[in-house]
Amino acid sequence: KKDVLIIGAGGVAQVVAHKCAMHNDVLGELHIASRTLDKCDAIAQSVIEKGSFKQPATLHTHELDALDIPAVIALIKKTGIQIVINVGSPFLNMSVLEACIETGVAYIDTAIHEDPRKICETPPWYDNYEWKRKQRCADNNITAILGAGFDPGMVNAYARLGYDMMDKGSVTDIDIIDINAGSHGKYFATNFDPEINFREFTGTVYSWQDSKWQSNKMFEVKRTDDLPVVGVQNSYLSGHDEIHSLSANLDVPNIRFWMGFGEHYINVFTVLQSLGLLSEQPVITAEGLEVIPLKVVKAVLPDPSSLAPNYTGKTCIGDKVKGKKDGVDSEVFIYNISDHKEAFAAMGSQGISYTAGVPPVAAAMLIATGEWDAGKMVNVEELDAKPFINLLNEIGLPTRIKDADGDRVLEFDI
Ligand code: NDP
Repeated sequence: KKDVLIIGAGGVAQVVAHKCAMHNDVLGELHIASRTLDKCDAIAQSVIEKGSFKQPATLHTHELDALDIPAVIALIKKTGIQIVINVGSPFLNMSVLEACIETGVAYIDTAIHEDPRKICETPPWYDNYEWKRKQRCADNNITAILGAGFDPGMVNAYARLGYDMMDKGSVTDIDIIDINAGSHGKYFATNFDPEINFREFTGTVYSWQDSKWQSNKMFEVKRTDDLPVVGVQNSYLSGHDEIHSLSANLDVPNIRFWMGFGEHYINVFTVLQSLGLLSEQPVITAEGLEVIPLKVVKAVLPDPSSLAPNYTGKTCIGDKVKGKKDGVDSEVFIYNISDHKEAFAAMGSQGISYTAGVPPVAAAMLIATGEWDAGKMVNVEELDAKPFINLLNEIGLPTRIKDADGDRVLEFDI
């Protein structure tokens, strides 16, 4: 058993806490620490109310500024935990990782580190921060699993599986397609923190094509797919963390990320951006008030966690992998379908937080059993995907595969 410290108390942390509690026969004592103690207490309360603990236990709560490295180190030492699941804001990643390296505990996150002063990082993304600490992790035998949410995360495992299913060196294309076909019933809202969410779309779109970085504008390149369960959907070429690690770890010339958007979202987004309302640069009003437009937009939009109770519909996220199988052109689609309503009933969260929160718990369980205790810094595609997929099939995030042989649940004999 390994004791766990969850950092952050947002939508994803809520799911992580419930899932850790449901599997506390593999994971041990649970702690949750975040900037606002009340949010940690509310999560602890909901874990108790839903009776999530498999074995009797307490979810200990702590107030923590995770940017304060000595404070994180002190908490890790005080609690004696062995695994940190960092699902706080992406600005915290490097300080939390630093504390893990200093104390010798395992580290898991679900998003790439971001500098709050930069609106959009340029590739090669993982080289900017995380991979600079690779050597230190290896030297100190620290397991650090980067980007272990859904995307990045499961889609990295799917890319690796699709790659391994094809003839060696034959894969030409990995297209990650992320469709949220759900409806929250609001005029306009983002599924997670608007500041983080808009950052993904306001800058240049980077993709890996012909084995080099290509730049496009958001909503410039569109594709249409007829997908399982969610049907015909449009998606747009977008930049995303995992394109970088996959391009470095797999010899595939084309790796792209496609995000689904409805016409309405694109229209509202375009108006906000064209007016300058998504800018993080302060403006002075006629009354002499200094305001940051993006902060104002965030303040007037619905709180993403408030969307959960009325969210309906499903998500379909997966990888289309093209290559050759036994010398013949072949394509597989490896994917997951999740349901917003079911996620809310199970753990009081919407589908996006659910799909992001379950995989890091599986990763922690595999560290606890030793299967993923790599003793170095890795991205998910560097690990054996089979135990991860099998475990996620069991704990509420099943993987399916669609290929020439049909459409079925993907599982492995190991
Ligand atoms: P939220 O914004 O809901 O939660 C972030 C949490 O971090 C909040 O509780 C916040 O505290 C806390 N926090 C911020 N600054 C500090 C600090 N200095 N010290 C301690 N705690 C702090 O985010 P989500 O739950 O939606 O997402 C969490 C993470 O998951 C993000 O990194 C996001 O990018 C990632 N993600 C990954 C996905 C994937 O599939 N890979 C998908 C979706 C999200 P407070 O409550 O006080 O504001």
